[in-house]
Amino acid sequence: MEYRCVQCGFRIKTLFVQYSPGNIRLMKCVNCKAVADEYIECELMIVLIDLILHKPKAYRHVLFNVLNHERTHFQMLMDVFLGNYMFLCSFLFAIRSLLKTSAQFSRFRDLLLAILISSYFKILLTAMMVWEFPPAVIYIIDLFVLSSNTVALKVMTKSTMNRCIGACFIAHAIKFCITQAFA
Ligand SMILES: [Zn+2]
Repeated sequence: MEYRCVQCGFRIKTLFVQYSPGNIRLMKCVNCKAVADEYIECELMIVLIDLILHKPKAYRHVLFNVLNHERTHFQMLMDVFLGNYMFLCSFLFAIRSLLKTSAQFSRFRDLLLAILISSYFKILLTAMMVWEFPPAVIYIIDLFVLSSNTVALKVMTKSTMNRCIGACFIAHAIKFCITQAFA
């Protein structure tokens, strides 16, 4: 297993040398002479902000130096992708059957967009799990996504709150069962 320099993508054997707990020295890249991965010492928020800003070095850090070395987390990432796909399918099905809305595609497009944005956010958060988040955080995020989906649905369909909660809850329950079955 090797790492990559986040500045230029050059391969590197190790990113830091640890002298004692909490006392590390970051390695320099032999190709570009910069510190190979300064994110190791950065706060989580800084990595997240750089990911949102689409900085290639932040993506190199996550893809090559973090996820590449965490098989279990990679499995979890697949879980999120699969879960969200199943969620999307069951969500659309639930909306159609429960809310009995006529198929207005502009509305569905808005809804898809809202779900995709929240999914994208969740993938980032899953990547952050690598920095040892308590597992409960992911459930709190799930609840947050569930409630925000409900509000988005209510605003868009002008249906009753109970029906919106029902549609979202069914979709989340199906997603939960499927991701548990594959876990
Ligand atoms: Zn480099």
